[in-house]
This record gives sequence, structure tokens and C-alpha cells, in this order.
Amino acid sequence: MPAKSYRGRFAPSPTGPLHFGSLVTALASYLEAKCRNGQWLVRIENLDPLRESTPAVHQILKSLQAHGLIADEKVRFQSDRHQAYFQAIDALRLSGKAYYCACSRKLLKAHGGHHPDQCRQQTQPPAEATPRALRFALEDAEVRWHDEFLGPQQQVVKAEIDDPVILRKEGFFAYQLAVVVDDIDQGITDVVRGSDLLEMTAQQLQVFAALKTPAPRWLHIPVILNHDGQKLSKQNHAPALDDQTPGINLWQALRMLGQRPPQELQHMGPEQILGWACTHWQRELIPRHSVAV
Ligand code: GLU
Repeated sequence: MPAKSYRGRFAPSPTGPLHFGSLVTALASYLEAKCRNGQWLVRIENLDPLRESTPAVHQILKSLQAHGLIADEKVRFQSDRHQAYFQAIDALRLSGKAYYCACSRKLLKAHGGHHPDQCRQQTQPPAEATPRALRFALEDAEVRWHDEFLGPQQQVVKAEIDDPVILRKEGFFAYQLAVVVDDIDQGITDVVRGSDLLEMTAQQLQVFAALKTPAPRWLHIPVILNHDGQKLSKQNHAPALDDQTPGINLWQALRMLGQRPPQELQHMGPEQILGWACTHWQRELIPRHSVAV
């Protein structure tokens, strides 16, 4: 059977505007897709209206455009996908892989992560109206997989103790479910993302298996640190990208990815820079550890 053609994606959560760290991730996923003649998609992971905002969505899309990072298909919004997440939850419940749970964090902590009410049996909606989360039932496993950049990976997953929430008590779907449902639905073959998400991967592998779909390949790139050694993030007040200087931003992002763009390229437009980057992209030059700006 011929190999499926490459489909990658960049999937930001709109908790704020794009910063330099997210540009590096977006660029790496874009170049990985483009140098394989693949498709590159953008998905806005707006699942949590309390942390995310519409202006941030617009800013992210505007920044991507200013940097020439144009998706090959219509941008997807997770806020439009609730129906699909409900369907996935029903399928998981039917196969005993999702259950209702009213335990507070405090209660679980007091019981070493175990559910005192035997929640794992509660796959049917409970009669009482107490708000409950839905959790995914993990299997005890030493999960192994191959990261396209970091090589062989291994993570221990503990059933019950690690079971992630997939639908929060407040009614918001959670990342661990939505990311898998959409990667499946969009036919994503390759995920390129920051290594801060590496620890999510073993659980996601189990969610893919429970939804009876082969997992994509994963490639985790090092995260970009600020001067204090913290990950560049919205929480750490990383400044928004300056959309007026896309050439310099892209040039710097390429350098962070270990590539060697010629000096004069930084004065060019995004199209020329991305053109150069597509022909010269060398995955093996990406630094193995987190790098500071
Ligand atoms: N939405 C996630 C974030 O912004 C990334 C999801 C992923 O790439 O798997 O951190």
C-alpha cells in the first residue's frame, strides 16, 4: 500500500497572541510538512472560554499570515466540534473506556489517586444532578514509541491514578480528548510540537487505540526559554510577535531551529525566507536541548 501523504498541523490554544516560541513551533511544523510536499493545517484549540479570547484568535491568525504561514485548508476551530467530541465520548463510554467522576482533586489526593467511589464503573450518566467530569480509563502500561527527532521514548502510564479528564465538570471538553479526535478526523499523519507536550503522548497513544485508529508520528522540538530559563509562554508574559518584522522573526526562528540562514535573508520577505528554508531544511540540525532566546 502506498504511504499516506504527509499531513501536519499547528494547533495553538488562543490564550494570547503568538510569541516567538510559538512561531518556532509553527515554523518547524510548516517546514516538516512542506519539505515532504505535505499539507499543513492550522487548528485553533479553543476549548476553554475562561482562558481564551476571540481577539487572541484574530491576532494568532493575523500573525501567521504576516509571517507567510498560510494553511492549505480552511482553519479549524475546536469550538465548532462539540458534536464530534460527544460522539467520541459515547463510543468510549460504550467500550468502558470513559467514566463519570465527581471526585475532587483533594479527595483523589487523599486516596493516593484512587477513586473511593469506584468511579471507573460509572460509564452511564448518573441519576443525581451532581456535576461530574468524564475521565478516560487508562491501562497500566509501559508505553514505548519512537519520536521522529528524540528517538525511542518510554513512559509509564498508571490506570486510575493518571486517568485524564476528557470533559470537565463545567462542561468544557479537555485537550487530551479533543486533540486526538481532531488529529484523527483531519487525517494528521505527523505531529510536530514543543517537547513540553512530550509527557502527554503516552496517554494520547492510548486514546488513539481506544478510538481504534493508528496514531500519527510525533516529533517534539525543544522549547524556547526566556532569559530566566523559563519556557517562553503566555503565562511567563512572553511578548507578542511583532508582525511588522516578519523577516527578522523568521530568520531568528530558523536560527533557533539550528538552521543556518544567510545573514542577508533577514531583510527579505516571508516568501523568500520560507522558500530558502524549504529547500535547506535539515531536521538533524535542530538542537537537542531547550535553547534560550
Ligand atoms: N493546543 C496545544 C497548545 O497550544 C498544542 C496541541 C498539540 O500540538 O498537540 O499547547
